[in-house]
Amino acid sequence: MPDAAAHLPFYYGSIARSEAEEHLKLAGMADGLFLLRQCLRSLGGYVLSMVCDLQFYHYPIERQLNGTYAILGGKAHCGPEELCEFYSKDADGLCCPLRKPCNRPSGVEPQPGVFDSMRDNMVREYVRQTWKLEGTENLTLHSPWEKGAVLRVPGLCPALGELQPGLEQQCWLQSQPTSGPFRGSSSWGCVGGAFSLSLSFAFATEAISPLSTFSSLLFQRNLGPLNADGYTPDPVGAGKSRPLPMDTSVYESPYSDPEELKDKKLFLKRDHLMIDEVELGAGNFGCVKKGVYKMRKKQIDVAIKVLKSNNEKTVKDEMMKEAQIMHQLDNPYIVRMIGVCEAESLMLVMEMASGGPLNRFLASKKDEITMSNIVELMHQVSMGMKYLEEKNFVHRDLAARNVLLVNQHYAKISDFGLSKALGADDSYYKARTAGKWPLKWYAPECILFHKFSSKSDVWSYGVTMWEAFSFGQKPYKKMKGPEVISFIEQGKRMDCPQECPAEMYTLMQQCWTYRWEERPGFVAVENMIRSYYYSIAAKPENGPGTGDKAKAALP
Ligand code: AMP
Repeated sequence: MPDAAAHLPFYYGSIARSEAEEHLKLAGMADGLFLLRQCLRSLGGYVLSMVCDLQFYHYPIERQLNGTYAILGGKAHCGPEELCEFYSKDADGLCCPLRKPCNRPSGVEPQPGVFDSMRDNMVREYVRQTWKLEGTENLTLHSPWEKGAVLRVPGLCPALGELQPGLEQQCWLQSQPTSGPFRGSSSWGCVGGAFSLSLSFAFATEAISPLSTFSSLLFQRNLGPLNADGYTPDPVGAGKSRPLPMDTSVYESPYSDPEELKDKKLFLKRDHLMIDEVELGAGNFGCVKKGVYKMRKKQIDVAIKVLKSNNEKTVKDEMMKEAQIMHQLDNPYIVRMIGVCEAESLMLVMEMASGGPLNRFLASKKDEITMSNIVELMHQVSMGMKYLEEKNFVHRDLAARNVLLVNQHYAKISDFGLSKALGADDSYYKARTAGKWPLKWYAPECILFHKFSSKSDVWSYGVTMWEAFSFGQKPYKKMKGPEVISFIEQGKRMDCPQECPAEMYTLMQQCWTYRWEERPGFVAVENMIRSYYYSIAAKPENGPGTGDKAKAALP
């Protein structure tokens, strides 16, 4: 993979945050002054370092699975150059638009990064082991890292003995490595009198996730095992990494592999499902158990909602409705359904989010979780909700108990039991009768007119934010549903939770705008929380790398 920013005069390669700030200082600290540097945390990623109001901001740019580049939650662009061009026209959540590139001083080349040398070393090691070559440190890598590399090998070609010099570009040996870090073909040849090995490859995990190839290797090295709770111990301090959502097995759909997609069906075979006795939780319908689902090429951990056998047909129908809704959704911030299994009882098989409900997690880890960690999780929830809004689905039960954690830094929306798909021309769903409703999370129009829309989900999102920023407390204290209704009707709203940042309380209040027509939608909500998240994450003392209440910095 060549460095997509190598040609940019304002690209500094692998330099530290402090060095970037030095360059910006020397260049005058004008608003919108910016430079680009390599991200040390994710392969192919960058960091946009910029100045606004004499402050530094550092925005991580991720290389996404489809090869595009985006600032978290922002629009995707085909390259870092296009991304910078876009943000020079529109701040779109950044502290200000990019105005002036801070170019490298003459004679200064972009600093090679850790990934570059790691990549080279991996190839050397691979060649050494596969072809039993000694002295691979003398191999020189020639071609750019697109889909392959040419290595010049001094000495003999081990498979063929001595070659006659002068046989330009002739292939001598083709092989298809099937293990090791690379897949693809390789050929030995003789180029200009020196033996060479051409490797054309895709990195082994590229079929699954090109981005995570190296980063996951790095994370495995840096982080070590998960602790007993299943949470990665949170690193504190600059340069330490933590797993990003895309480094987990539940970021992409299990069916993103075309081979697996061939088998995708709503109904799963019972003999592909192993059910553990461990119960993850329970509801009216029955219980949720841990399990493993065997796919064509892999086995995945799953959560299985098992319907109680004595349940009536209506409950069964409800579970099937939930399955039908979930089947249509595919987003990293929403618990995906794998399928339904009809055997000893009706079972809904879902992706596993082993961290459990957000409210319970926050209540139990109150002393360890930072505000920026909560903002990060709530931003992810807003991204999931923005996706639902775009797909014209209403959730109708968004609450902290229905936000499940994959880990401390990765949240997914779950429980689609009350959800509805809206018709193409409908902006709301009208419930004929009131049911067992979570009134404290419901907007006035839901309670008064039974009208549910993405805007009423926004109201619930505000209540979920309140729960999160108060570390899992119950909303509206001891009030009963009808008391809450009159409290809202009087124009009153819940107070700002103790440690909650003012900006986040303002957003909650906007979510609790009485008239749905005036309430923001999820596009606006996501944009607001993203801007705030960036503004705190870009400041060294609040970097999103901090998981506990200590200070840490972004790369
Ligand atoms: P629900 O009825 O969907 O709210 O599920 C009841 C409980 O089961 C939740 O509160 C979780 O503790 C657990 N649970 C549900 N879905 C999952 C999942 N996909 N992964 C892990 N735990 C889950």
